[in-house]
Amino acid sequence: MDPVSWDTGTLPWEHIRENDDGTLFVDASTRVDQDFTQEREDLGKMIVRHMIRCVLVILDLSDSMEEKEAKASNKPGRTAFLKQTLRAFAREFFDQNSLSRLGVIGLFHSEGHILVMPTGNLQDILSFCDKPLETGGEPSIRNGLKTAHIVLRFIPEYVSKEILILYSSVRTCDPTPIGDVVKDLKERSVRCFVVSFAGELHVLTKLALDTSGSHHVPMNLDVTQQILSKFTLPFPVDSSSHSFTKAIRPIPIGIPQRSSPEDVEDNSFICPQCLSKTSQPPTDCPVCGLLLISAHHLSRSTQHIFPLIAFNQTRDVPEICHGCTQHVSSQFAYECPKCQQKYCTNCNKFLHETLNHCPSCPA
Ligand SMILES: [Zn+2]
Ligand SMILES: [Zn+2]
Ligand SMILES: [Zn+2]
Repeated sequence: MDPVSWDTGTLPWEHIRENDDGTLFVDASTRVDQDFTQEREDLGKMIVRHMIRCVLVILDLSDSMEEKEAKASNKPGRTAFLKQTLRAFAREFFDQNSLSRLGVIGLFHSEGHILVMPTGNLQDILSFCDKPLETGGEPSIRNGLKTAHIVLRFIPEYVSKEILILYSSVRTCDPTPIGDVVKDLKERSVRCFVVSFAGELHVLTKLALDTSGSHHVPMNLDVTQQILSKFTLPFPVDSSSHSFTKAIRPIPIGIPQRSSPEDVEDNSFICPQCLSKTSQPPTDCPVCGLLLISAHHLSRSTQHIFPLIAFNQTRDVPEICHGCTQHVSSQFAYECPKCQQKYCTNCNKFLHETLNHCPSCPA
């Protein structure tokens, strides 16, 4: 059972399937597989996606976190749940978006506090999650969005600017209505996405609607992870929107050289444009502001532009999977349309999400 206390909300009968001999069995992977296949098919379509994203995660750290922990003292509580969720999200986010930035803002004592400035380093987010979090007071959506807007003002136009709000209260304590802040965010093409653990709030639903984002109320930990997992993929850019022309413009980048290639312990690099010393890529040059990345980051970031084609689901299950050479026990296999080799469910997922290549097809 998951560590959070709310209702599981699953529909077990949706997963019941019939065998060829008429007996019934529970196929728990079916729905996830269908979603996964649809996602990969969407990736292959001719649509524009941002290569570089800046996502600010706004965490509700008001006293609602403490209330939940006191009520369920034998359970990990909302703070531990938030940290666990953020940790898993950050890992998947940097795996899928190697050039992107992630920052964290906390809502407590009616203010929006910058906890982690937008960073391309996963370790910054993980070490933040290891520290104790300050919580208490009222949450203020307006002040949180205002802080996020100040941070996003300095992000270049070719970067997709997004806000992800993880909210656990059913109230907000704002000095004035949030309309003017939403207008400012819309002008800068900032999209707001909301995951509300306690219930739907009209102000947050409207915020998501006005900024072309989405609002979710997950029923359990699994659903939360599925929602956040979808969020790690860059969203398609609407061709009629203002941000479309910004998304397809050239992005100036530089691939820096090590300042002393013979010294493996020296992690400093030289900017190819202004020749000043910088830290390890991905980073912005502190002198000329050029985006500095490694060749590895560049190849990883094109996985959404040239994704591995979706495999066809087939009932013609082979004895042995071509990928892991293990016995295939499920009712379905996945066939590569180019080389006709068949893979098990786990290999299908691994090839599309991690390897981004069919090992049997020529490179
Ligand atoms: Zn430079
Ligand atoms: Zn396999
Ligand atoms: Zn193949």
